[in-house]
Amino acid sequence: MPDLSQLASGLKRSGIRVIMDLAMGMTDIVRLEVGEPLFSTPEHIVQAGCTALQEGFTKYTPNAGILSLREVIARRLNLDYGLNLSADNIVITVGGVGAVSSAVRALTDIGDEVLISDPCWPNYEMIIACAGGVPKRYQLDPEQGFLPTLANIEKVLTPKSKVLIINTPSNPLGIVYPEKVMRELVEFARQHDLFIISDEVYEKIIFEGQHTSALSFDRDGRVVGVFSFSKTYAMTGWRVGYAVAAAPVADLITKLQEAYVSCTPGVAQKAAEAALTGSQDCVAMMRDTYKANRRLALEILDRYGISYLNPQGAFYLWIDVNSPDSTAFAKELLVKHKVAVAPGDTFGPAGERYIRVSLASPQAAIEEGLERIGRLIRK
Ligand code: PLP
Repeated sequence: MPDLSQLASGLKRSGIRVIMDLAMGMTDIVRLEVGEPLFSTPEHIVQAGCTALQEGFTKYTPNAGILSLREVIARRLNLDYGLNLSADNIVITVGGVGAVSSAVRALTDIGDEVLISDPCWPNYEMIIACAGGVPKRYQLDPEQGFLPTLANIEKVLTPKSKVLIINTPSNPLGIVYPEKVMRELVEFARQHDLFIISDEVYEKIIFEGQHTSALSFDRDGRVVGVFSFSKTYAMTGWRVGYAVAAAPVADLITKLQEAYVSCTPGVAQKAAEAALTGSQDCVAMMRDTYKANRRLALEILDRYGISYLNPQGAFYLWIDVNSPDSTAFAKELLVKHKVAVAPGDTFGPAGERYIRVSLASPQAAIEEGLERIGRLIRK
C-alpha cells in the first residue's frame, strides 16, 4: 500500500475537536467551546430556502455563484463601506472557510510565506499548510491592545512573505481594529508588496466602536475581503460565504471553485439572498443577546477576580486561567466539572495560559459554566 499524503497527515488537529470528541458520550455537559450562534436560522430565510427547493434550485450554479446574489452583495458592501464594487468582484464560496482557502490558493505558490497573528483562528494554519505555504506568526502585544503592529509584522517579514492575514472583529480575542490601524496595515502591505486577506466574517457583531473594512483602503487590488452568512444570520450549516476581490483575483478564485467544490449549493445561495434583502432586525437582536451574555459573563469573572480580555466584537471571551497547559486545563474542566471550552493553545503558542468561551451560547450555560470555571480557578 502506498503512503498516505504526508502533507495531510502532518496537519495539526484542532484542540477544539479534541475537547468535542472527549465530550461526546458524556452527559450533562455545559457546552461553551464551539463558535456557533445559539439561534436557529431566522424563519424567513428558512422559508426562502424551502421555496428555492420547490422552484427547482437543485442544479449546479455558475462557479462564482448566482448573479442576483452577487449583485445584492456588491450593493450592500458599497453602501456599508463606500466601495465601488460590481458582481464581478464577488465569488460565493462554501462558507468563509472556502473564501480563505481559495484566496490562499489564488495568491500563493508552494513555499510562500503567509503571515498570521499569534493567537488566531486555527484554520488559517491548516489552510496555508494545505496549499504548501509556510505560516509565520506575528505577535500581538497586550500593551498595544492586542492589535497588529507594523513593527511586529516587520520582524517576521522575509523576501518569501506574500500574504498578510488579518481578522477583525477577531477570533479568539474579540479585538476590533480602529480605522487608523486598518489604513496603516493596507499601506504597509502596499509598501512591502504583500497581498492582504482580511477576514471580516464577524463584521456585524460589534459591541463597541464600528467595523472598518480593509477594502475601504485598497487602491490597487491587493486586498481580498472574506465575509460569511454563518455568524451574522445564524446560518453556519448552510455553508455560504464570499470572497471580495479585484476582478483578476476574483476570476482566479472562481476558477479554483471548479477544482474544489464546483459551486456553493444553489438552495443555500437563495436563502442567503433572502437574508440580505429581508429585515435586518434579526441581526441586531442576535448581537444584543451576545452583548447581554458578555455583561453576564464579565460580572461572574469579576466576582471571582479572574482576568479576561473584554471583547469589543465577535462573540468570544478570552480568559486568563493562568495555567501552564491550556489543553490540560480544558480537559480537567471537562472531565471533572463538565464544562467544555476551547483551549487557548489551539489558537497559537501565545494562547497557552488562556481558554476561549463562546458568548453565543445560551445564557444558562454561560452562567453555570463560568461559575464552575470561577470555582476551579479560585481553588
Ligand atoms: N473566519 C473566522 C475568524 C472564523 O472564526 C470562522 C468560523 O468560526 C470562519 C472564518 C469561517 O466560518 P464559515 O466557514 O462558517 O463562514
